[in-house]
Amino acid sequence: MANRTISLTDDLHQYILDVSQRETDIQRRLREETLRLEMGKMQIAPEQAQFMALLVKLTGAQRILEIGTFTGYSALALAQALPEKGHLLACDISEEWTAIAKHYWQKAGVAQKIDLKIGPALNTVNVLIDKGMRYDMAFIDADKENYIAYYEACLKLLRPGGLILVDNVLWGGSVIDETDQSSDTLAIRRFNLHLKNDTRIDLALTPIGDGLSMARKLDEQAD
Ligand code: SAM
Ligand code: CA
Repeated sequence: MANRTISLTDDLHQYILDVSQRETDIQRRLREETLRLEMGKMQIAPEQAQFMALLVKLTGAQRILEIGTFTGYSALALAQALPEKGHLLACDISEEWTAIAKHYWQKAGVAQKIDLKIGPALNTVNVLIDKGMRYDMAFIDADKENYIAYYEACLKLLRPGGLILVDNVLWGGSVIDETDQSSDTLAIRRFNLHLKNDTRIDLALTPIGDGLSMARKLDEQAD
């Protein structure tokens, strides 16, 4: 037993799923349909979706902003955890992928909680800021080079005490591979350092999925 996070073998990972996974039939069907797509691995892991859904309930979030929706698996998990009057704004640039999302949100009976905004998410968040919109939670999972810009926008849009979740912060482990100087990897490294030194938030980097950072906007943080 060590005072550090355990390494997951495939068997141990399977054990976690065996004893804790509670995916609905519709979630499973969406995940399996998405996995058949060429880019299917972009969807978050089921255990991460379940963890994020629990966070929605724990925090009592009612309004969620998602940046990067793809075929809708993460949004489905979050929306299912929202109360009936809850709302999620899903942002993406792809009509094709989000058509699959809309189909499954409908089937799951959560479509009335979700609005989809197609267009570059930076434009969308700037409009939301101009309109003075407010969110309790944000999930950032789109183009990595804009992560810092999305994060800064989300900090403005979040209420004090609100939570920002950021996906892929370990980027398949390449964050520590010095030979990897690709623009996405550099962007994730830059982003992680940006959060480390940010006194406006409480921070935890959780090694679930591909790494999930959790940033809570401080209560006393001015809007
Ligand atoms: N959260 C999703 C899930 O768990 O299924 C996965 C999101 S996928 C990793 C990233 C998504 O970001 C893609 O669907 C892509 O179309 C979208 N995207 C890329 N650039 C974008 C931009 N500038 N604005 C909005 N969405 C963008
Ligand atoms: Ca992701």
